[in-house]
Amino acid sequence: MIVGNWKMNLTIHEASLYVHKLASKVKGHRNVEVVLAPSLLSLPTLSLQVERRQFKLAAQNFYWQDEGAFTGEISAHQLRGLVEYAIIGHSERRHIFGEHDKDIRAKVQAAVRHSLTPILCVGETAHERTAGETNGVLHDQVVGGLANLTAEEVAGIVIAYEPVWAIGTGNNATPADVENAVKLIRRQVEHLYGGDIAASVRILYGGSVSADNASSYLTTPGVDGLLPGGSSLKADEFSAIVEAAHKAGKK
Ligand code: PEP
Repeated sequence: MIVGNWKMNLTIHEASLYVHKLASKVKGHRNVEVVLAPSLLSLPTLSLQVERRQFKLAAQNFYWQDEGAFTGEISAHQLRGLVEYAIIGHSERRHIFGEHDKDIRAKVQAAVRHSLTPILCVGETAHERTAGETNGVLHDQVVGGLANLTAEEVAGIVIAYEPVWAIGTGNNATPADVENAVKLIRRQVEHLYGGDIAASVRILYGGSVSADNASSYLTTPGVDGLLPGGSSLKADEFSAIVEAAHKAGKK
């Protein structure tokens, strides 16, 4: 699975042109699910434009209430039909917009309630890493994000390990770091929901992923895909990452 997080980039027109270009570059491979997370404004246009067998769509964010007096917000209920996935708990939401595990948990539940698959992002800051707190942070974010879900609901979700110090910095984690973190996350899910559920949860890596380093993660045990941000905005590079996933999946 490859999820491109476009963040706050591209106008509606630019997004549409980009998808047109990307569609000619990304071959539909049955073993790779390609998900695009454009800005909310582009979702209605792109949801009509994309061929769902080639690309799925994800929301970058939403508010957990279904409707009401929440000026400026949109809900999972309103996203239904436009997207299949929703990124929840991205570090930029946690650290710039002050979202806490309880907000993230409410969003995960709202997504599930409206049949959107959560892509729950977890990861430690540079400071937490230096202080040796990575395991504790991942534990708290996984437990905090998944609390109150049934085993059946957890089985379908996606978790992205995104160390904050690696996002947008060019300082990508080593495959060994990623392998350890992914093991820990899966163990945590296993502890909560059992081995079968833990095995079925897809776990991605994100943090300065590029066409050059993608294969090293895609061949790392336990990693089911990638969540590139910056490199998803370059059609050539993004399609090369999808191609790397296809090759890794064949092995
Ligand atoms: C992200 O947006 O989640 C991300 C990992 O960004 P980048 O690939 O630019 O580090």
